[in-house]
Amino acid sequence: MASLYLRRHNDCSRCPVIGAEDIPGVEYFNLKWMRFSIRIAREIAFGRTPVLVEPTTLKQWLQNVRIDPEHVGHVPLNVGPGVKITFPAGCGEPIIDGNHRAARALREGKSFFVVVLDEADTLQLLRRSMGSHMADHIWRLLAESKSHPDDL
Ligand SMILES: [Zn+2]
Repeated sequence: MASLYLRRHNDCSRCPVIGAEDIPGVEYFNLKWMRFSIRIAREIAFGRTPVLVEPTTLKQWLQNVRIDPEHVGHVPLNVGPGVKITFPAGCGEPIIDGNHRAARALREGKSFFVVVLDEADTLQLLRRSMGSHMADHIWRLLAESKSHPDDL
């Protein structure tokens, strides 16, 4: 297993590999049967104006994601905004990039900002992450579903 001989910062599985800070395209956010490329999400979000996430909203959201408490202390504050996507039919607006930074900001009482990708951006991201066929199929299911409080 790669992790046995690749040394990572802080000996933390979520921190970058030492000497290979930028491995493009390896980071994904998985949600149910969906997969979002963080690299492509950042590319789409680049240059857009971030918006503040209310701390109460942020706290609620973070209960839905797996946060590694140790890694929260490894991410720097002020490294830029996260990325939030938008599902159709009120199926949710998950934050797919920056959740550990968000947890850190919340812990330190700092503001956390995200760039919001609208439905068209989100579909584009999903298509580029999973391929158009899968993405369109999933999107149709989401669009036809009734929104539910348990949806993300
Ligand atoms: Zn870490």
